[in-house]
Amino acid sequence: MRLSAFYLPLLKETPGDAQIVSHRLMLRAGMLRQQAAGIYAWLPLGHRVLRKIEAIVREEQNRAGAVELLMPTIQPASLWHESGRYDAYGPEMLRITDRHDREMLYGPTNEEMITEIFRGGVRSYKDVGKTLYHIQWKFRDEVRPRFGVMRGREFLMKDAYSFDLDAASSRKSYLKMFTAYLRTYHRMGLRAIPMKADTGPIGGDLSHEFIVLADTGESEVFAHRSLTELAPPPADIDFDSDLEPIFNAWTGQYAATDEMHDAAAFEAIPEADRLSARGIEVGHIFYFGTKYSKAMNLAVDAPDGQRFVEMGSYGIGVSRLMGALIEAYHDEYGCKWPVSVAPFHCGIINLKAGDASTDETCKTLYRTLEDQGIEVLYDDTGDRAGEKFARMDLICLPFAVTVGPRGLKEGKVELKTRATGEKDEIPVDKVAAIVSDRIRSAL
Ligand code: ATP
Ligand code: MG
Repeated sequence: MRLSAFYLPLLKETPGDAQIVSHRLMLRAGMLRQQAAGIYAWLPLGHRVLRKIEAIVREEQNRAGAVELLMPTIQPASLWHESGRYDAYGPEMLRITDRHDREMLYGPTNEEMITEIFRGGVRSYKDVGKTLYHIQWKFRDEVRPRFGVMRGREFLMKDAYSFDLDAASSRKSYLKMFTAYLRTYHRMGLRAIPMKADTGPIGGDLSHEFIVLADTGESEVFAHRSLTELAPPPADIDFDSDLEPIFNAWTGQYAATDEMHDAAAFEAIPEADRLSARGIEVGHIFYFGTKYSKAMNLAVDAPDGQRFVEMGSYGIGVSRLMGALIEAYHDEYGCKWPVSVAPFHCGIINLKAGDASTDETCKTLYRTLEDQGIEVLYDDTGDRAGEKFARMDLICLPFAVTVGPRGLKEGKVELKTRATGEKDEIPVDKVAAIVSDRIRSAL
């Protein structure tokens, strides 16, 4: 992409109402524009990152065997009357009336609709043992939308729903999602700690919130320090194998909790190993058994008679993750995107636009890099060098190549690696090989 053709409206001033760094940087770096409280337009730069996060979430859901579909944002209220949640949900639900006076709503979540969809297509016990998911906008009329995309009113969520014949198979579905979540966050360069959450009347141990540690987070987490050092499951993990050992390692002896849940367990940890921190909830999974299948009559014929289907639901805050990523990766100049979610992999700065040799070199470099599948933002504008550097720092691509007339006389350009701050003078014809090598090893 040539910067002269891109839409990148940067802000010079730090917006006054943005209290945390991720919100400030998203506004300043032209990623986001507020339309109403908690409702944002995703500008081209932010949109690219959002799509990358979404793609990782999707790949890991598919790898775990979940099947994608897409449900609408607007739902008929009748589904929620059926489950009994229409009145229970409260003012967070945006309720709408259509021209025929039918009650509708903008979905805050999709348990009812997915139950209706599954109910429409299954008859026998052989039809269950499936997990369906979608990635769709949700609306919750939060009392206090704040911190930009962290607590929006309209936000993008991945929500998956598992359907099983009995509690034991439901546990297996839960463990698959649990494992997929560890991998998902890891691929974005984040470490999310699974924290025991409320199981309510269902009981058991199958409800976890995934927390990314950050001082600006709204959640509190208490855990054994070793939980921050566990290795995530590998890419070639077999989701049909026994996943209990993984689950145990992350939730067993050293399980993280919020203090209300298990203060005693936290006190039992030797003081030096105690971790008490703030964090951002980037996912929540829970098993709720037959709660919706009973209320909405989702049952299948099994050899031993009719059975209500056992269900679980599994959410990831896709848009919130973008805030969490910036909270985790930034410095005083701007964001420091991990390669896997960066809006572009590499920037090219032409120090002297209009100069025949730098123009030509930049154009060739741009083409060569793009041909290798590297996503490039080429600053071909006539702006001052200082301005170009500050802009590249603010949007912070993992790599930046600077092409100036002086270096070119010796056939060299400068390659900056954002994560380390390292700057190398390298021959022009080596740039593509080096950059693609570094990208590949970072992914
Ligand atoms: P919170 O306690 O933060 O309000 P929640 O318990 O209401 O979250 P869930 O219903 O479990 O959230 O939704 C699944 C995921 O969606 C959450 O883990 C979070 O990452 C994300 N999410 C929930 N509410 C919002 C919001 N208002 N803005 C952005 N992301 C959200
Ligand atoms: Mg909430």
